[in-house]
Amino acid sequence: SSGRSTGVNNGENSEGPDAKNLRVKLVLLGDSGVGKSCIVLRFVRGQFDPTSKVTVGASFLSQTIALQESTTVKFEIWDTAGQERYAALAPLYYRGAGVAVIVYDITSPESFAKAQYWVKELQKHGSPGILMALVGNKADLQEKREVQVQDGIDYAEKNGMFFIETSAKTADNINQLFEEIAKRLPWPSSSS
Ligand code: GDP
Repeated sequence: SSGRSTGVNNGENSEGPDAKNLRVKLVLLGDSGVGKSCIVLRFVRGQFDPTSKVTVGASFLSQTIALQESTTVKFEIWDTAGQERYAALAPLYYRGAGVAVIVYDITSPESFAKAQYWVKELQKHGSPGILMALVGNKADLQEKREVQVQDGIDYAEKNGMFFIETSAKTADNINQLFEEIAKRLPWPSSSS
């Protein structure tokens, strides 16, 4: 398949000459407990269920969204499944990834520091063209906030990342996160 360098692929055209089915591998990074699994479950199944630790990490969950008319994007989402400490060193985890979503918890400065660590690891070891998104999750917990919105914005801007605050609990900005990623990916142009 083409697109090995960017991790972004043109799929089969099964719905007519103008239909495009794009797909991309997305890896999740961030401290344990920041809500990575909950974000994926909210996006893929439309529910918030903190008790069901799914086996996302065994392979991946996928979800397809519409990007434009007759263009769809299939996200192949890889979660660390509790292997946060080793994820950055696992070549299989990153191989072919077009997107890395780095998640922290807005009530935890430690998780924000850890997110910055993951960004540096990706800048060192990730594929050069990888799109990075910084996500401040648990935005519903405003009264417990310890990481300011502006801190997320500033860090993301400095590192050329997309930034958004989400809540897997209320579903706030979850779909927007994936839609904005889909729009920003360097899809191969179809010059046919
Ligand atoms: P992971 O270890 O990063 O995959 O984190 P989980 O998805 O397992 O979430 C850890 C805990 O954080 C869960 O038990 C949820 O109760 C809680 N959580 C996740 N997302 C949110 C959120 O958006 N808001 C709130 N209030 N809690 C959340």
